[in-house]
Amino acid sequence: MSELWQSYSDDAFVAEVREFVREHIAPVADEYDRDDIYPLAIAKGLAKKGWTSITLSPEYGGGGRDYQLAVALFEEVAVGSAAVAISIMSTFQAQTIITRFGNDSLKKRYLPMFREGLLCAYALTEANHGSDIRHLDTKAHLDGNEWVIHGEKSFITSGSAAEFFIILAETDAGVSVFAVPRDTPGLSTYIGVESATFGLRNGPHVNLVLDHVRIPADHLVGIEGKGVRQVVTTLDYSRTLAAAVGIGISRAAFDDSLEYARGRNVFGQKVFDFQGIQWYFAEMLTEIDAARLLVYRAAEALNRHEDIERYSSEAKLKAESVAAKMASIAMQVCGAHGTATNTSFGRYLRDAKTYEIAGGSAEILKNTIARYLQKG
Ligand SMILES: Cc1cc2nc3c(=O)[nH]c(=O)nc-3n(C[C@H](O)[C@H](O)[C@H](O)COP(=O)(O)OP(=O)(O)OC[C@H]3O[C@@H](n4cnc5c(N)ncnc54)[C@H](O)[C@@H]3O)c2cc1C
Repeated sequence: MSELWQSYSDDAFVAEVREFVREHIAPVADEYDRDDIYPLAIAKGLAKKGWTSITLSPEYGGGGRDYQLAVALFEEVAVGSAAVAISIMSTFQAQTIITRFGNDSLKKRYLPMFREGLLCAYALTEANHGSDIRHLDTKAHLDGNEWVIHGEKSFITSGSAAEFFIILAETDAGVSVFAVPRDTPGLSTYIGVESATFGLRNGPHVNLVLDHVRIPADHLVGIEGKGVRQVVTTLDYSRTLAAAVGIGISRAAFDDSLEYARGRNVFGQKVFDFQGIQWYFAEMLTEIDAARLLVYRAAEALNRHEDIERYSSEAKLKAESVAAKMASIAMQVCGAHGTATNTSFGRYLRDAKTYEIAGGSAEILKNTIARYLQKG
């Protein structure tokens, strides 16, 4: 049998990422999940390889490669740990929004730092505003040459380790985006009552406090009042990568359960030799292959900057729902072993379910696809 998960990208690159995952990520994935640890050394290691800036323009020290590679990176990393993948997702989001909307001084100052391993968080959500970010309780106003930002964000992925934050706040002109370095006076984080989630545990998703934080006027990203459009466009990019994470989870669940079913004896035969069980695997492989094709199709849309809201939403909708289904079936075919806390099946199920909500819930993705159709 040939390789089950053939590369849809650069073969040598995929082989190198797989090696990194085997060596550095897979051995610690369950422990980091259990203890809710941010994978700092791993994230820095991925950056050192140039992978967290793989699509960034070479003008700023990036790899200048296409989104097929970025999708492959997120897929392979997530086979080892979805939590590690989301740890670099927030960095990609920050990089994308500055690249697409930032002024020249922001680009020149911050984009080269990504090649050096700058870690970021993308802070939109507040206690009273999750899916609906058209109005916010975090406010910003211009005071001379500086923006003053005041408010609090919640559920912030990578917030425990981030050195740089992209923040959404409301000004008189409407919702706007700001770039805020971590060492800015007035910025702090704490572990709130809902910070620790049951899935995608990459260090508690902290609350971020902005206590009259002052940043230079040029740290407004893009156009004042156009923040919602800018962050949603950026999410259209990261949703394809999030979909790749779903594929990684599905693959891991499939591989682990297949290995177990091939080795476990029941009624004098291997679990895998029951036709009822084989059908599970046949269906799983078909589902994962189909979702995977959709995700790489979405990567192509990103490369061409065409219909990205449609394809990234379809890809994330399908890939996370397949992942949740795959993780559940994988557990089923392993019997009690699938529920044991010394296996990874629980992690796969928790991560997959959580990603049906985080980064654009299934319902919001369906709304986006429907809006695409409404445009005619
Ligand atoms: C693990 C994790 C990590 C996260 N990381 C970050 C982060 O780094 N940065 C950040 O800013 N946020 C982050 N979030 C927050 C996440 O983006 C929000 O949870 C998400 O946007 C949904 O918002 P909500 O939880 O407030 O749900 P709500 O907006 O309260 O929605 C509740 C339910 O109603 C549905 N719903 C809402 N609007 C509609 C509609 N128009 N039509 C149909 N159904 C609708 C939703 O899909 C959901 O099912 C994270 C969340 C999790 C769980």
